[in-house]
Amino acid sequence: MKEQKCLFVTIAGLPNAGKSTLINSITGKKIAIVTPKVQTTRTQIRGIAIYNETQIIFTDSPGIFSAETKLEKALVKSAWSAIKGDDVILLLIDASSYLKNIERIKTIFTRLRHTKTKCIFVINKIDLVKKPELKMTYKHLDLLYKLKKIFTISALKSDGLSDLMDYLSEVAPVSPWFYGEDQVTDSSTSFLSAEITREKLFLNLREELPYSTAVITEQFEEKKDESLVIKQVIFVLKDSHKKIVLGKGGSNIKKIGIEARIELEKLFERKVHLFLFVKVRPWTDRPEEYIDDV
Ligand code: GDP
Ligand code: MG
Repeated sequence: MKEQKCLFVTIAGLPNAGKSTLINSITGKKIAIVTPKVQTTRTQIRGIAIYNETQIIFTDSPGIFSAETKLEKALVKSAWSAIKGDDVILLLIDASSYLKNIERIKTIFTRLRHTKTKCIFVINKIDLVKKPELKMTYKHLDLLYKLKKIFTISALKSDGLSDLMDYLSEVAPVSPWFYGEDQVTDSSTSFLSAEITREKLFLNLREELPYSTAVITEQFEEKKDESLVIKQVIFVLKDSHKKIVLGKGGSNIKKIGIEARIELEKLFERKVHLFLFVKVRPWTDRPEEYIDDV
């Protein structure tokens, strides 16, 4: 048998670059929520893949953006503190918005350089751009940063992933695996379930409201027939928010609950009884309750 190797990879990039999508398509399970709105990933999520006897642990860092509120600052701090110790930083770039974001990408890269960690570029969403445009982006990155490795992928269509995984398994140091063989994530099942409900809130509620909600799983239990009972509380800031989340005659919360339950049943491969409660509680000034590693 070959020797075991292990590598930690932090996925950095602007909001919407496709970080969560990449982790999901590599690990094949939905463990990081994906929505078209920015900054939905609040905490680090680890996705674990085994490839060529190498265990590769991916961390999805929250979007790097200009922080204003206390909560945002805490998020950014946690993103950077996550990067320091890791073996490889993967800077994910959205090919379809490269020109628009050149300056922001430069800023991120300058900060990454200071971490002295190995950095690779991965150009994502190549399914959205024409060949000449992709070539231009590639050349521009190559000239500007002189990095040895630039990959081109479509995380959504799982295109180009094997080249990337080949490279990561090659550079991984010999080391015993950090996690068990069957583990795809170290996020607790409670946290994962809360993330799924939060995703449905994002998809069903308009504008800024979802940003000020928090979902906590209060009960996660397996019944004798192997079905799961999951009780969650959706915390909102004000009474008026609670009304919106509930909807007319409870129509919104019902829809959110059904969509979340279907997703949970897929994830856990069994019947799920999901109970959602909405409670009012101000929380933006106490981010430490909701974020690990701050
Ligand atoms: P994150 O903020 O970096 O975690 O980005 P997400 O993974 O949440 O993705 C943001 C949006 O981009 C979602 O609507 C994804 O479906 C979409 N997306 C991600 N990767 C690709 C890709 O390779 N091709 C296309 N067409 N869309 C993608
Ligand atoms: Mg994300």
